[in-house]
Amino acid sequence: MSTEVDVAIVGGGPSGAAAAHLLATRGHSVLVCEKKAFPREKTCGDGLTPRAVKVLEEMGLGDELATWERVEGLRVHAAGKTLELPFPKLGDWPDYGLVKPRKDLDRIVLDNAEAAGAKVLYKTQVVDPIFDRGVCTGFVAKRDGENETVSAKWVICGEGAATKFSRSLGRVRDVDYPMGLAVRQYFRSPMEHSGWFEAYLDIRSADESLPGYGWVFPVGDGTVNAGVGLLSTFGGWRDVNLNNLQRGFIGSLPPEWDVNYDTVCSRPRGGRLFMGQSVWPPHGPGFLLTGDAAGMINPCNGEGIAYGYETGRMAARHIDEALRNGSSPSLSGYSEELMETYGPYYRLGRRFVKLIGYPVLMEKLVSMGMNSKTIMSFALTLLANLEDSAPHNAEQKGFKFMKKLAELKP
Ligand SMILES: Cc1cc2nc3c(=O)[nH]c(=O)nc-3n(C[C@H](O)[C@H](O)[C@H](O)COP(=O)(O)OP(=O)(O)OC[C@H]3O[C@@H](n4cnc5c(N)ncnc54)[C@H](O)[C@@H]3O)c2cc1C
Repeated sequence: MSTEVDVAIVGGGPSGAAAAHLLATRGHSVLVCEKKAFPREKTCGDGLTPRAVKVLEEMGLGDELATWERVEGLRVHAAGKTLELPFPKLGDWPDYGLVKPRKDLDRIVLDNAEAAGAKVLYKTQVVDPIFDRGVCTGFVAKRDGENETVSAKWVICGEGAATKFSRSLGRVRDVDYPMGLAVRQYFRSPMEHSGWFEAYLDIRSADESLPGYGWVFPVGDGTVNAGVGLLSTFGGWRDVNLNNLQRGFIGSLPPEWDVNYDTVCSRPRGGRLFMGQSVWPPHGPGFLLTGDAAGMINPCNGEGIAYGYETGRMAARHIDEALRNGSSPSLSGYSEELMETYGPYYRLGRRFVKLIGYPVLMEKLVSMGMNSKTIMSFALTLLANLEDSAPHNAEQKGFKFMKKLAELKP
């Protein structure tokens, strides 16, 4: 069987769905091939920062969001102290976050793309790209044991951390860039509506402070999502057993959470976080890479859903323009826009995570920060990448200054 469309998309996660939604809204024929049947489990903390909330609103899901579990900011626990840090009130970003299990979130966002006119084939695994004189002109997908040929003017790879399709397009992650590793589980807990993203910064292995954090996010359905994440900038990260780290973290939580191995309701599930623009360039003849496939997770906080939505929509805008005006099959403008939008911030992020890869430094920075709510509020704005276009206050001016600083040679 064969199909012909304007744009064919590998994967129906945040980046694939966001691209499909925008392209369908602009009247193009779009096909999303998703290897799983939805709803499906997805290993994630389920946390949506103001950046993600903003794009979900832009995709027309505003009414839906009003029914989801809301958080007002970050409650940080470290060095024996707790600080409540509400999200800043800014011109460009909402001042709240949300928690929505990915099992439901991804279905809702992909349904939204389908309602806008995109075609979605579930249980359809993309296996190989098709090239014509060096230009990617589609792919072969497997569905019900049969091969399906999909021809397209453009292919978007939104396969997440799977890497197989990106590799066959000749794109691999730069292993010198930082990577995250994280594991999560659901627990029944009376704190299901805690109103905060809870972050625990004292994560230790063999008495060393690790660059990473433990989280407990309130899901609002009687459960919380609790997990722990670690950065590869720490020299001994390969020796850390994530499941043991998670056990230690869960065991250290205060009793009021009632989060323990009697209240657990799922197995630990882990995954890799490709961060800091580590797959470059994320374009080539006839194709673009989005979200995790492009290594677009924010290295400062491990957030990738918003960046999946944003890069999916950015890719869609470039393809839309090419389809309407005709242009070369290599959309380098997409990579240029990615670099312009995220380059300075991600450079800052890469330096930051390198710095905190030194356990002693990490410990010092945390204990210093926990003595000042002003410092930690600034850190939240910075780590969640909440920069306004106009620098209207000291915090926002500081943000711009830090990005400029990161541009200097080390
Ligand atoms: C433990 C953990 C916790 C995290 N917590 C958070 C968090 O709280 N907040 C946050 O913002 N980010 C979090 N992240 C990161 C976030 O999950 C990702 O950044 C995000 O899912 C990226 O979206 P994506 O669309 O690029 O890829 P994905 O969400 O991975 O979607 C890719 C889709 O493609 C499909 N697919 C893959 N290969 C093929 C193929 N060959 N053919 C067809 N379909 C295919 C997959 O089934 C999947 O549905 C976390 C990650 C981990 C591992």
